[in-house]
Amino acid sequence: MADSKWVEPDLNFVKQLKALGGDTLKKCYQCATCSVVCPISPDEKPFPRKEMIAAQWGLKDKLVGNMDVWLCHQCNDCSTYCPRGARPGDVLNAVRAYSIQEYAWPSWLGKIVPDARYWWLLLAIPVAIFLLLLGAIGHLHIPEGEIEFANFFPTLLVDAIFIPLTGWVFLTFGIGISRFMTDIRQHAIADGKAKRKDLNVPDFLRTIVCTLPTILRHSKFSECSTNKDRYLAHILVMYSFIGLFVVTNIFFVALYILQIPGPYSQTNPVKILANVSGIALIVGAILMMTNRAKDRGTNVGKGSYFDWSLLILILGLGVTGELSQLTRLAHIPIVAYPMYFAHLVFVFCLFTYLPFSKLAHLVYRTLAMSYSRYCGREPMG
Ligand code: SF4
Ligand code: SF4
Repeated sequence: MADSKWVEPDLNFVKQLKALGGDTLKKCYQCATCSVVCPISPDEKPFPRKEMIAAQWGLKDKLVGNMDVWLCHQCNDCSTYCPRGARPGDVLNAVRAYSIQEYAWPSWLGKIVPDARYWWLLLAIPVAIFLLLLGAIGHLHIPEGEIEFANFFPTLLVDAIFIPLTGWVFLTFGIGISRFMTDIRQHAIADGKAKRKDLNVPDFLRTIVCTLPTILRHSKFSECSTNKDRYLAHILVMYSFIGLFVVTNIFFVALYILQIPGPYSQTNPVKILANVSGIALIVGAILMMTNRAKDRGTNVGKGSYFDWSLLILILGLGVTGELSQLTRLAHIPIVAYPMYFAHLVFVFCLFTYLPFSKLAHLVYRTLAMSYSRYCGREPMG
């Protein structure tokens, strides 16, 4: 008699995948069209057909820690050609959202960030902290005279909040990344996908550097057809974040090392970079939203709360940043100061919840792509 193997489906896992946007997973009848049309699936152990049956059976262990899930960049070519409308691209997206929760530390934050019931709590945390601190220093009012945000929210107070937060993000994300790397490596070795089984840190770091141009060019997007129009939106958002990161660091050095306090002239090159990045962020976020919302007549879903909450956050960040500046220049203090307050709330949320939000995929996917290269599982394309 052939050996038999018991599998124990995790029904709660299936339920959660459905809630995270993979609600069509039960429609799959294993025809394998998706694995054939996927432009990056390797010949050996191709995806996403095998991931679809694992999702249907609730085989969490086959999906969380599976690096193939992270190689997928949700081009949704597979969803377009799926004859059953099972939307494998969206199912893999749901698996990634679930995995981000699994690697999260502290785990309670990993659970509430993707849960639509708690959006108000996530916003209330920074609002309460900011109001308490402003109240403690007697700044809970609109300052008189020329608009200068530092008169309302002192720069020292902003830094006293955001510098420790940077440490928090490094700590929480560091723990998540360590869990992720251990997991995908163990799975790759156990599944026979890893031709190279050791993990030589300098070699792996070199592989990450070699992978970065692919990420920076978004070259994988040129290989897909269904979601090709996401390319511009992704490029705009990614480079605007890089621009804003550069600007923040330059202003930090200008203030604390060169002792040049703001506000800076609108013709200052760094300020120009800040404005261009801010506008690119808004345009990119709107493009992402319209791409998600429009019905292209394909099998592509419109996304879950996990996807939309990040887009709203990015748009809110860009809009409040630009409006606070415009209303400052127009001398409308009653709008400028609250807008600046809202902007800081959005910055806090984006930054603090980064390891638990969809934005975390930027790091996890880079690591998975690098590890796949490192261990010898190079996808096609
Ligand atoms: S997801 Fe669709 S294309 Fe892929 S195996 Fe299932 S039915 Fe076939
Ligand atoms: S969404 Fe694109 S990359 Fe992901 S499995 Fe489908 S075809 Fe492949």
